Amino acid sequence: MADYDVVVVGAGNAAMAAAVSAREQGAGRVAILEKAPRDLRGGNTHYSGGLLRFAYERGEDLLPLVPDVEQQVPGFLAGVESYPPRRFRADLDRVTEGRTDPELADILIGRSYDTVQWMARQGIAMEAAVSLSGVRVGATIKWSPGAVIRARHEGVGLSAMWFKAAQERGVDIRYGTSATRLVQDPRGRVTGVVTRDGDGFSEISARAVVLGCGGFEANPEWRARYLGRPWDHAKVRGTRYNTGDGLRIALEIGALPCGQWTGCHSTPIDAQAPAHGDRTLTDKTNRLSYPFGVLVDVHGRRFFDEGEDFQLYTYAKLGGIILNQPRGIAVQIFDAKVAGLLEGRYRTGTPVTADSLKALVEQLPIDGARCLETLEAYNAAVGSGTFDPTVRDGLRTTGLALPKSNWAQPLDTPPFTAWPVTGGITFTFGGVKVDERAQVQNTSWMPIPGLYACGEMVGGLFHSNYPGGTGLMSGAVFGRIAGANAAGA
Ligand SMILES: Cc1cc2nc3c(=O)[nH]c(=O)nc-3n(C[C@H](O)[C@H](O)[C@H](O)COP(=O)(O)OP(=O)(O)OC[C@H]3O[C@@H](n4cnc5c(N)ncnc54)[C@H](O)[C@@H]3O)c2cc1C
Repeated sequence: MADYDVVVVGAGNAAMAAAVSAREQGAGRVAILEKAPRDLRGGNTHYSGGLLRFAYERGEDLLPLVPDVEQQVPGFLAGVESYPPRRFRADLDRVTEGRTDPELADILIGRSYDTVQWMARQGIAMEAAVSLSGVRVGATIKWSPGAVIRARHEGVGLSAMWFKAAQERGVDIRYGTSATRLVQDPRGRVTGVVTRDGDGFSEISARAVVLGCGGFEANPEWRARYLGRPWDHAKVRGTRYNTGDGLRIALEIGALPCGQWTGCHSTPIDAQAPAHGDRTLTDKTNRLSYPFGVLVDVHGRRFFDEGEDFQLYTYAKLGGIILNQPRGIAVQIFDAKVAGLLEGRYRTGTPVTADSLKALVEQLPIDGARCLETLEAYNAAVGSGTFDPTVRDGLRTTGLALPKSNWAQPLDTPPFTAWPVTGGITFTFGGVKVDERAQVQNTSWMPIPGLYACGEMVGGLFHSNYPGGTGLMSGAVFGRIAGANAAGA
């Protein structure tokens, strides 16, 4: 008899969903292998904002998830727009430039609402994503459609709730235990994993294995190999343990690579952020209010249309664009008119401040004279119209080679603030090919018996960019599917 019915590799959102789902679907003995020690457990999930993007028809559909939301946020429903599946799909298609895998996208979107309800039943409490998605307008909050709800207490809470749910269901959790190889029988069926822990190597047998152990974002050699320069220099926003192990061991037995291996999710973060995610700061090094200001490189030039779209549709590509600028840094500049619109996360940093643009640029580690010219040209190019942070307001510049397409107000009200930023890598897009059962396919386009994958390891959904809140949703949807099918394997 095998040691376990199902072994799940990893302990982030996707793996946890798989383990809990496997137990629910009848797997008697389920183990989770977590490479990290207990005090660093939980993968990127722990560091995340816990934001969950899913489809719903009406604001009222959110009430079963957060029954007391109107008490938490008075007037909540008034600020929520409908987000039916076709709208989610349009967002995913738009930001991935039509490259998202249509079958996986259908599954992700089609099962998203059902899966958040399932998560709630498993003990994942939720709340309105006030600081991530809401823009306050007077007394009410306008929500970014589809990205309204997050796990209670963000990623820290989500991870803790998943561990509690797994423990309550009798899942064995082995910390400091890394999967180093998959074991197959002569017919090619995956029958277990070789692991390494403090005592050395051993083998664990299982009827099925689910890989939910992240991408290769924390592996500089793989970043250089697949993403190229300058990604080996990137700061890692989350866990240091996602070094591509799951991808490597799957590819070693013939899994089919899939998706954009040169692509990743990467965001503007504080230039002083640590080399790897800080467990207390978590996602608070993000600097995502750039649509309301001006962004310049070290030569003092603009290089990105800050107002191209809402931040949740541009932030995941902007980190890489910044990292590819000279010295891999840039500066966000705001005036006092928008100070109240800066995300609360800005409070974890200290800006350069001045009462004139000239005095501001002189303090920055960039070409100040050129920057001042850029800001003056920008101010002169701002058109007329009404600034409205809750819609694409069309308040754009005219005559600049690189426009700012929305929210373009002049920088004219002191005090001015400047925030040095760099690009931090979040997770990689390349993965393995899975079918609708989350079963891993081989290079002959046949399922590998006994092997399933979920979370960041699934290739094909994201290309070049990503709509905020989709990573955790994908992990939960495919984790749940993987666990259920592994239980029946
Ligand atoms: C700062 C930050 C903020 C984010 N905010 C959001 C957000 O608000 N909403 C959203 O949707 N997404 C967000 N994301 C992305 C999201 O966190 C990821 O998409 C998601 O957590 C991936 O889940 P996962 O289970 O696939 O991987 P992870 O959560 O990274 O888990 C991978 C697990 O595998 C383990 N592991 C690795 N190698 C091995 C091995 N060889 N053996 C055993 N275990 C191994 C790791 O230790 C870890 O436990 C954010 C990410 C970061 C870093």
